[in-house]
Amino acid sequence: MKYIGAHVSAAGGVENAPLRAHEIGATAFALFTKNQRQWVAKPLTQKSIEAFKANCERYGYSSKQILPHDSYLINLGHPEIDKRQKSLDAFIDELQRCEQLGITLLNFHPGSHLREIPEEQCLDYIAESINFALEQTQGVTAVIENTAGQGSNLGYRHEQLAYLIDKVEDKSRVGVCFDTCHAFAAGYDLKGDYEGVMRDFGEVVGFEYLKGVHLNDSKAKLGQKLDRHHSLGEGEIGWEAFKKLMQDPRIDEIPMILETINPDIWDQEIQTLKDFAQQA
Ligand SMILES: [Zn+2]
Ligand SMILES: [Zn+2]
Repeated sequence: MKYIGAHVSAAGGVENAPLRAHEIGATAFALFTKNQRQWVAKPLTQKSIEAFKANCERYGYSSKQILPHDSYLINLGHPEIDKRQKSLDAFIDELQRCEQLGITLLNFHPGSHLREIPEEQCLDYIAESINFALEQTQGVTAVIENTAGQGSNLGYRHEQLAYLIDKVEDKSRVGVCFDTCHAFAAGYDLKGDYEGVMRDFGEVVGFEYLKGVHLNDSKAKLGQKLDRHHSLGEGEIGWEAFKKLMQDPRIDEIPMILETINPDIWDQEIQTLKDFAQQA
């Protein structure tokens, strides 16, 4: 079963997210459990937690269909210890919010070295942060997202994702989210060589660690290292790669989430993707 949805708004409370997902025909969804541009947020209220769970139940979303995204401010590999600690505290808070909501996955961008430390040292800091955060929490898997390699962001090579997984002690609670736009912009040619990209992912990272997919076309060209999403079929990747993804038996039972730029057509994008999956 392919679970297909979008990153929906949680405005007015997290409990509204499953409702919005349902309205666009989604069988999966992503959300922010707090404002993604602020460090601190009020704790979730008991009322909001219960309403979220009730709405997920009502509209048929189990925990494996939900892939929340953490705050954009968090950098688990920050070169400075006090700033890294601030990120770690915020990351633990995000994991705890997931625990409260009965969510079992948390998607995050690995981190940036800010051109102050070598890549490997930054990756070691990120792994150390993940280990510490997992020790402080229960039941939530840390899902590392591949990046476009923009600026000094790490996670743009499958080898870097594998390096992080290798250093995480609890392998049962670490995974990867594969963003198609980021992969393409990082130089993985999903348009010209879908099979080759996926074979490399399988060999280097392993499909057993694939816990989510972000479905985005790319305004940036292959290898341009820019994070610029586009609506499916309108960017440099094109529909064919998304059809292959929908018909790929290695990718199943995980949330596949649109972060495309025009929410008004999410319902159509979802329907087209569902049709592809059906044809498999
Ligand atoms: Zn993404
Ligand atoms: Zn992106």
